[in-house]
Amino acid sequence: AQERYASIRDTPTVTRDGERINLVMNAGLMADLPSLGNSGAEGVGLFRTELQFLIRNQMPKRSELVTQYQRVMDAAGDMRVVFRTLDIGSDKVLPYMKHVEEPNPALGWRAIRVGLDKRGVMRMQLQALMRAANGRPLTIMFPFVAQAEEYREARWEVNKTIEREKRLGHVLPESIEVGAMLETPSLAFAPQKFFDEVDFVSIGGNDLKQFFFAADRENELVRRRYDTLNVSFLSFIERIVERCNISNTPLSFCGEDAGRPVEALCLAAMGIRTLSMRPASIGPVKSVLLRADLQSLRKIIADARHRGDQSVRSSVMEWLRNQG
Ligand code: PEP
Ligand code: MG
Repeated sequence: AQERYASIRDTPTVTRDGERINLVMNAGLMADLPSLGNSGAEGVGLFRTELQFLIRNQMPKRSELVTQYQRVMDAAGDMRVVFRTLDIGSDKVLPYMKHVEEPNPALGWRAIRVGLDKRGVMRMQLQALMRAANGRPLTIMFPFVAQAEEYREARWEVNKTIEREKRLGHVLPESIEVGAMLETPSLAFAPQKFFDEVDFVSIGGNDLKQFFFAADRENELVRRRYDTLNVSFLSFIERIVERCNISNTPLSFCGEDAGRPVEALCLAAMGIRTLSMRPASIGPVKSVLLRADLQSLRKIIADARHRGDQSVRSSVMEWLRNQG
């Protein structure tokens, strides 16, 4: 399938009406690195660092993490890699960490909540990232930020780590960007000041959708019940785009929907300019974007909303068929 898209692999993604869309990839294991070269990805929009923790049976040492992160950055070269700090809890349980029984793990002690309560682990990971960068730019992203204060605390920890590394005589990264994943509806309604402060925002669509519709992403009975192209969800995405635009905050979308061509088209039409997806999706998504006129798609979506359709999917599919 990759070969089918080989001819457009190095073509920048510009829509027919001239919108430049960044297509980056999701990764998490060393085995994903070769895809950086052969998928046409322009970088790594989501590096799920917990995957390397999940495949082991003991807590990795800081030095091991440094080596792993170095290899990732080396493979990426000049391309940007967004390292997401440990996103454990919920469905991702570390076998070597004390397991707490929770009535509702998806709404429980997970991601940045664990990081802020277990600062030692967070610090170790931040140090490892900074040492691996060793003079290169570094991009860090905190998962599952539900309110601005959590982001501020995590960022304070980043600054502390910078000071500590400096004191210890380590070479600091050339620059450090610190972003937040928007995966709970609450963050979309944070004070505008939050959008001014954060270096970038990435929508974790898998979790955001689960909480928006209150439909468990792990539960087969409900996980496909609500359409991403539901007008309520698209309006919500549009609102997030507007809030980021007001503050000039770069915004990306890194859930599985970014890798589905029709969904990707609609996300781009709503104003998302960076889509992060599994490497195999880059070709198919790029192929539809290259042929798309986002302005006319926006019109199709607006008409469907005006009519009161529940989802814009059928209108968008029809529009696509007519495009040939
Ligand atoms: C998401 O929630 O959309 C996301 C990208 O993170 P994960 O799937 O790892 O929870
Ligand atoms: Mg998530």
